[in-house]
Amino acid sequence: MSLVVVGTVAFDAIETPFGKTDKILGGAGTYIGLAAGKLNVDAKIVSVIGGDFPNEYLQLLNNYGVETSGIQIIKEGKTFFWAGRYHNDMNSRDTLATELNVLADFDPVLPESYKSAKFLMLGNLTPQVQKRVIEQFPERPKLIVMDTMNYWMNSAWDDLIEVIGMVDVLTINDEEARQLSGEYSLVRAARKILTMGPKYLVIKKGEHGALLFHNESVFFAPALPLEEVFDPTGAGDTFAGGFIGYLAKTGDISFENMKRAIICGSAMASFTVEKFGTEGLQAMQNGDLNDRIRQFSELVQFDIDLVEE
Ligand code: AMP
Repeated sequence: MSLVVVGTVAFDAIETPFGKTDKILGGAGTYIGLAAGKLNVDAKIVSVIGGDFPNEYLQLLNNYGVETSGIQIIKEGKTFFWAGRYHNDMNSRDTLATELNVLADFDPVLPESYKSAKFLMLGNLTPQVQKRVIEQFPERPKLIVMDTMNYWMNSAWDDLIEVIGMVDVLTINDEEARQLSGEYSLVRAARKILTMGPKYLVIKKGEHGALLFHNESVFFAPALPLEEVFDPTGAGDTFAGGFIGYLAKTGDISFENMKRAIICGSAMASFTVEKFGTEGLQAMQNGDLNDRIRQFSELVQFDIDLVEE
C-alpha cells in the first residue's frame, strides 16, 4: 500500500568524535523515504527545497523508487540546514544551527496522485505543515504516524499538541517524551501521552532500543550491539521509515504487527549509524536487512525453566 512521507529534505553538517562533514544530504524526509524505498514500498515525499539543492540528490531518491513530485522547489530560496555535534557517548548531541530557510514559509500542496495513499508518515517538521497535509486527504489514511522533536516543543507548542491529537502513532525519544508529558518515569509519560490522542506511542532510546506502548501493553526491542557507530544522525528517521514501511508493505496495523515493524525499523536504523549521513543506507545490499533481522531474533531469544522459589 502506498505511503506519503512529509519531512525535511535538507543539508546537514555533522560532527562526531570520529569526524566532521560539510553540508551533506540529510533531512527527516530523506531518511524516511530512503528507508521505505529500501523496502520497495511505494513512497511519495512532500517537502520543500531551495534552488541550491542538487538535482542528483533528488535523482538518488528516485533511484530508490521514491516519488518526489510533491517536493516544491523555491528557486530563489535556500534549503533547510541543520548542524549538530555529538558528545562522546554518541547518544546525545547539541544542535549548532537550525536554519529553516524555505521551510519557514512552506505551504504544502499534495499532488492528486498522493491523495489515495493509505499510510501517512508525518516526519519531523513544522507542526502546521504536518496538519495541512492531513487536511488535504479526501479520506483519512488508514494509519498516521508522527515524529517530532524538542525544537517544535520549544517553538510551536500549541500547534504541536493539536497535531498530536490527530494521529494514531507518535514516535519520540525518551527526553522528548519527558518534556512532552512533564513526567520522568517513561511508563507514566506514556500513559499521559496516550491520553493526548495517539493510540500507540513509540519511545526511542537510541542505542538502548525502543519501547512500544498501547493501552496497558508494552513491548521492548533492544538496538543491535554494533561494532562501529560513526554517526547517529537520521537513525530516528530511518527507524520511522522502516517502521511505517513495514506496516504499509504488510497492510496490517495490529499491535502484534507493530512489534515486527519495530524490529524492522531498528534493523534499518542500524545501517544508518554505521556511516556518515545517508551512506550507511546507500551501502545496504540485498540480504543485509534480513541478516540483521535474524540477529535481532537471536539476540532476544532464550529458554528458561522457572526457578523454584
Ligand atoms: P534524527 O537524527 O533522526 O533526529 O534526524 C536528524 C535529521 O533531522 C537531520 O537530517 C536534520 O536535517 C533533520 N532535522 C534536524 N532538526 C530538525 C527540525 N527542527 N525540523 C525538521 N528536521 C530537522
